[in-house]
Amino acid sequence: MGAMGECPGVRYAAMLTKKCDNCDRLIQAPDDAAGKKVKCPHCGDINLFPGGEPARAADPVEKVGTKPAKGGEPERSVLKVRPTMFRARPVTFLGLGTGLLASAAGGVYLLTSTKSEALGWACLGLAGVLVGVFGVWRIKNLGNSLEVTNKRTIERVGLFSRFTSEIMHDDVRNVQITQSFIQRVMGVGQIGISSAAQDGLEISVKDVRNPDRIRETIDRYRSM
Ligand SMILES: [Zn+2]
Repeated sequence: MGAMGECPGVRYAAMLTKKCDNCDRLIQAPDDAAGKKVKCPHCGDINLFPGGEPARAADPVEKVGTKPAKGGEPERSVLKVRPTMFRARPVTFLGLGTGLLASAAGGVYLLTSTKSEALGWACLGLAGVLVGVFGVWRIKNLGNSLEVTNKRTIERVGLFSRFTSEIMHDDVRNVQITQSFIQRVMGVGQIGISSAAQDGLEISVKDVRNPDRIRETIDRYRSM
């Protein structure tokens, strides 16, 4: 049994109230009048009730069956990072760079001065190997990225065979930053994000610049 005086099956709509723009008296309207024009019963002036659902663009995540994040706004990229080379491994980077320059210069010198042709070619060969090491490092870094949108964090691994994993901000259980002392000084580190929704799912990217800013960005969306 319902409360006294309440008809079963009838839902009583909450009323909206607004002061009339013209006569300043109170206008009442049902709650579905939000965003609509209502005539003032006192003076006849047409008043626009505030609120109402603003028209919104389709959310890209809805197309793949993912429910849109709170707010329902379209997904947009907020930040995208790739692993750094110099800042993440300054000693390795400088060592490789110096070795490359020295072996190339030494090789050219030895060959042009005809002091030792064999040693000259060996130096150039070493320089070639170091160029290859740089190239592989660079290509590996280009394939890895971490992208934060207003809805989720996406990790991409591998330049050719792409592996992607993503964690919705609502599902983030923990964001962890791992930094050595030198990495802290250089402002780089590893960032790991674990998901509460899928057990064991984790995103982890090494050698990213400014990992604290990435964590703060994700935290900002988590707390929305
Ligand atoms: Zn009025």
